[in-house]
Amino acid sequence: MAKYNPKSLKAEEFISHEEIEETLAYAEKNKDNLQLIDKILEKAKLGKGLSHREASVLLACENKEKIEEMYNLAQQIKQDYYGNRIVMFAPLYLSNYCVNGCLYCPYHMKNKHIPRKKLTQQEVRDEVIALQDMGHKRLAIEAGEDPKNNPIEYILECINTIYSIKHKNGAIRRVNVNIAATTVENYRKLKEAGIGTYILFQETYHKESYLKLHPTGPKHDYDYHTEAMDRAMEGGIDDVGLGVLFGLELYKYEFAGLLMHAEHLEASHGVGPHTISVPRVKRADDIDPDEFDNGIDDDTFAKICALIRIAVPYTGMIISTRESQEVREKVIRLGVSQISGASRTSVGGYTEQNRPHDTEQFDVSDNRTLDEVVRWLMEIGYIPSFCTACYREGRTGDRFMSLCKSGQIQNCCHPNALMTLKEYLMDYATEDTRIIGEKLIESELKNIPKEKVREICKENLKRIEEGIRDFRF
Ligand code: SAM
Repeated sequence: MAKYNPKSLKAEEFISHEEIEETLAYAEKNKDNLQLIDKILEKAKLGKGLSHREASVLLACENKEKIEEMYNLAQQIKQDYYGNRIVMFAPLYLSNYCVNGCLYCPYHMKNKHIPRKKLTQQEVRDEVIALQDMGHKRLAIEAGEDPKNNPIEYILECINTIYSIKHKNGAIRRVNVNIAATTVENYRKLKEAGIGTYILFQETYHKESYLKLHPTGPKHDYDYHTEAMDRAMEGGIDDVGLGVLFGLELYKYEFAGLLMHAEHLEASHGVGPHTISVPRVKRADDIDPDEFDNGIDDDTFAKICALIRIAVPYTGMIISTRESQEVREKVIRLGVSQISGASRTSVGGYTEQNRPHDTEQFDVSDNRTLDEVVRWLMEIGYIPSFCTACYREGRTGDRFMSLCKSGQIQNCCHPNALMTLKEYLMDYATEDTRIIGEKLIESELKNIPKEKVREICKENLKRIEEGIRDFRF
């Protein structure tokens, strides 16, 4: 039996099955222990996070009043750390060639009827122009794992192409990458190509289930997959994004595993995850989500999001268009800081007039245009932000974390959000959206604490009107 050690670089030691089992037993035993729950909530109010054990007790607690307290606290932490800004992004599917056998994904190798497609560099260009024309500035590139069809050279070439396209006032300023676990050398190449976050979902932390859910292909290697973030960090990538695919295993197990992974990164590399994603299994080509026994309802999902917010306040939280408008609204209040808009989950989907379904990775629940999502966010009290400044200013890893911890984020992210929203309004918004946005910017300027920064921001907003782009703090 491997001894639990968050500092270890071995998967079985930092995601110790025994530690998770003990955590779940401890949480179950204490789920009605209101004294302990109050103590944990008091600690959480300090805004410095919770351990996986503490957070697991809150997750197990079914007391309605206490859950309400958790929600209020999550909202408070969200407000304190992220204000009312929501960062926007879109996924870009490069290739659905894949040699793995993931049971939940329609790109699995045995799927012989799904058309296989890989974008040429010209097609990448066309897709990126379509994305730029919507107003996107930040992408997450996605690809199946296939060393022959999608080798690292192909991914690097695509990143290069994406950054090189300047169409009208458009530009993709940050490319995040969601590709299969790879080598330190390849992570170094991705870093050199100027990527933002490296994202890799664990899918499930439960090793036995993991092995069954990934019966064939390189992804079958649980340890290699689980230790990927350590290799990424060794390769120089200090912004990494974690996630589990909810529905595959028991959510309490995944929740503890996810937080242990975050603790491990902090303990062994001095910096926690930059983001956490919370996807749920969706219907897809030959995939029926009901075949997985561990689907969670919307309330449980909201509770998980709130508790992630409380447990790791410095980690951004991402929600995709897998979720409906209604669910997204709920979890944005509870802690989500980044959302996708107008996503197409098929290879080459953005250049098609109508949403193509043939090569789609999963069904999308939020089908609105980016303009509709932007307007909706503003109507419910948020500032859509197209900001990509941090990593371009070298504020990654622990430097980003210290910005968060010092509370300086409001003097940096807030004006950046307003300036990038202004660009969106000038270049891409419909008239209705523009009117709402201009009013919002006007009223939000006063929320920049430092007078000097506020004045520079006002000046830059004027210059954006004159046609100049890409200001940042
Ligand atoms: N091939 C890479 C890998 O293995 O990590 C890249 C990512 S894949 C394109 C993106 C993610 O989509 C997967 O990590 C998985 O969690 C998720 N996914 C796959 N099938 C899904 C489904 N049916 N519903 C929802 N999400 C799904």
